[in-house]
Amino acid sequence: MKERNINQGHCHPKIVKALTDQAQKLTLSSRAFYNDCLGEWEEYVTKYFGYDKVLPMNSGAEADETALKLARRWGTVVKGIPNDETLIVCCEGNFHGRTITIITMSNDPDSLEKVLAEKGDKVAGFLLEPIQGEAGVYVPDEGYLKKCYDICKKYNVLFMADEVQCGIARTGKMLACDHEGVRPDILILGKALGGGVFPISAALADDEIMLTIKPGEHGSTFGGNPLATRVSIAALEVIKEEKLTERAEYLGKIFREEIMKIKSPMIEKVRGKGLLNAVIIKPMNGKEAWDVCLKMAENGVLAKPTHQHIIRFAPPLVISEEELRDAIERIKKSILSFC
Ligand code: PLP
Repeated sequence: MKERNINQGHCHPKIVKALTDQAQKLTLSSRAFYNDCLGEWEEYVTKYFGYDKVLPMNSGAEADETALKLARRWGTVVKGIPNDETLIVCCEGNFHGRTITIITMSNDPDSLEKVLAEKGDKVAGFLLEPIQGEAGVYVPDEGYLKKCYDICKKYNVLFMADEVQCGIARTGKMLACDHEGVRPDILILGKALGGGVFPISAALADDEIMLTIKPGEHGSTFGGNPLATRVSIAALEVIKEEKLTERAEYLGKIFREEIMKIKSPMIEKVRGKGLLNAVIIKPMNGKEAWDVCLKMAENGVLAKPTHQHIIRFAPPLVISEEELRDAIERIKKSILSFC
């Protein structure tokens, strides 16, 4: 069940075929020269997500760094913030990878308003995870994203969504921001963009933001390479062809409903959207989430605790209803074994 990186399932034949076909033609060329893959991918991805331009990178962390660089540049060039005074605001509990140093703040929209009211003229962007994955699948209150977006607009601050984990069908919409009809100014994608087969990530934005970076000012040796881009097109096609957004929505409801029916004092809460869910475990007789995970592994379900008392469940979105119900039975058996 711990496969938040694998929305399209392990070794999806169409995606593996895209990889092996391309591997025999061309795997890497300098981005300074034309190849027949990158342009096609750029057109496909920008149409798919509805943005003017895209910058390809490899990992989620790099896509986040790219977004921050873009926001800072936009802050200087368009908003007129003196270069060394630019601020980026982000949320407490967010996870954006392992390379980023950022300011944290509370998760309350009123504190965003407060920060921006005080420092808004120096703030270029607000970066958030629409649903916090690593923190333990924290789903914000309804209206939170829209409220934050509106506050950003009021202070001319870019709303940047890190959808590396919650994006691309995982939460039952193409993007987690779609749950509230919010269109991020900068959209950050990773993980499922490469179908679990090859690393590729991206920052998407419209021209006003993207064109503040000039040719030669940003790049990556492997970013947008022919293998990655061919794999990525296949991965995104699979999302639509196999209706993985709808599947995540439908199966996620079943998951939460069925887990909530388990009568155990160890289950404190079940939360999530689509197939990104967490079960909050109340320790009992010295047994905690880790022990539940070991028991589940014995019973054939792999999941990992985050933050000691939270177990995250993020199965591939291609899981069948029968497989899901079977997994739920195994989870139930594991939890009930402690009562
Ligand atoms: N952003 C979010 C929301 C993530 O969940 C992750 C990884 O789990 C990252 C960024 C970093 O991605 P990567 O490990 O590909 O650098």
